[in-house]
Amino acid sequence: MDPGKCPTGCDRIYATRRLVKIIFATLGNSFDKKTRYETVFGEDLSTRERTFRAPGRVNLIGEHTDYNDGFVMPAAINFSTFVSISQPFDSKLDIFSENFKDSVSVDLTAGPRPRGDWSDYVVGVAVILQAAGYTVRGAKLNIRGEVPIGSGLSSSAAIEVATACALVAISDIKIDRVELAKLCRRAENEFVGARVGIMDQFVSLYGQAKKALLLDCRSLDYELLPLSQEAHLVVCNTMVKHELASSEYNQRREQCEAGVKHLAQALPHITALRDVTLEQLEAYGKDLADVIYRRCRHVITENDRVLKAGDALKRHDLGEFGWLMYESHRSLRDDYEVSCPELDIMVELASRVEGVYGARMTGGGFGGCTVNVVANEHVEEFKRAIAAVYEQKTKLKPEIFVCETADGAGEVTSVPAIQQQAGD
Ligand code: ADP
Ligand code: MG
Repeated sequence: MDPGKCPTGCDRIYATRRLVKIIFATLGNSFDKKTRYETVFGEDLSTRERTFRAPGRVNLIGEHTDYNDGFVMPAAINFSTFVSISQPFDSKLDIFSENFKDSVSVDLTAGPRPRGDWSDYVVGVAVILQAAGYTVRGAKLNIRGEVPIGSGLSSSAAIEVATACALVAISDIKIDRVELAKLCRRAENEFVGARVGIMDQFVSLYGQAKKALLLDCRSLDYELLPLSQEAHLVVCNTMVKHELASSEYNQRREQCEAGVKHLAQALPHITALRDVTLEQLEAYGKDLADVIYRRCRHVITENDRVLKAGDALKRHDLGEFGWLMYESHRSLRDDYEVSCPELDIMVELASRVEGVYGARMTGGGFGGCTVNVVANEHVEEFKRAIAAVYEQKTKLKPEIFVCETADGAGEVTSVPAIQQQAGD
């Protein structure tokens, strides 16, 4: 049998399955995948499919350091995206997103272009794999995401990485995980058109349960560090996203570049702020405009905090780790000026709740989420206190996600029903 084709009749079976899937998806998530397949097709048909899972992430410390060749420390979390993929059978990708209840079909031989919707994240991965010289086979893909979309937990990297793992597996492509992370990032940069670093894709592939991942964004060397099981990572969504985020982001990048250019006059070996110490900034940055000086100081001290946070985890010292998180927030607020009143309120409120080791804004800023390290026995009280007081102060109802750390992407044997996502 031609391995590129499905057995006889497969097309019709898949068309029927697709139709039934769409009908069931529109009925909502009350049917889990197993129930659908067992009820509608019987067990044997689902064995034709393989399913790949990739997790979302939260960045614990190391903000705005990635594009300065510095250090970040994310953890993969137990909200994942699942991509179920059929046997390869022609040059088309037929993609269905259960979340968007929408399907898109593209011919890989026709040079697909971005459509400006959710499917770009999936098609982009296939197109970039092809551009890198790999032969990608056509197939049916069913996507089920439990990573909250657009909440800062990187549903985008999760869908890219799960898709990449699925396509690579059915196309018999041999590729290592670093390369896969780079290609997924390229898909988001070049096909989706979002200027992102490599952290999200990298941790979605390399994360581990009970571990934080310390990543050197220059060399891509990484270290998995033990996260105490006495505390949970709790993510609070402020529910604001200020419009200036992307223009301010570009401006911060330019300011960092300006800082490097100036400092390189005295320090010709440097190519990024990663290469500069605080002492060097103090010695050679006197002529810098105050705003550029403060931007540089954030990046330099933040890199230092990430490394210290790594040492704290090795010593199982959550107290020190939490203190570094508060310091990171202060620096992002005062020196880098990427916080906003809602983020500051959320961090301030957290700092007053018993059992909170540390809190800070996470992500690019100007809204989005905070990450909090909360002692297990205080998580429920934390959720209650934050939800009530934040809403009272801002008139906004926050989403609160209590996260477990999780393993990086891989193949799974079943897809769980979508779990409760937001603060219940
Ligand atoms: P975040 O990564 O913080 O969740 P982004 O805006 O970077 O937010 O990425 C969200 C986008 O990724 C969605 O708007 C959608 O286009 C795509 N996406 C994520 N998960 C899915 C999914 N399960 N199905 C379809 N598209 C998805
Ligand atoms: Mg994203």
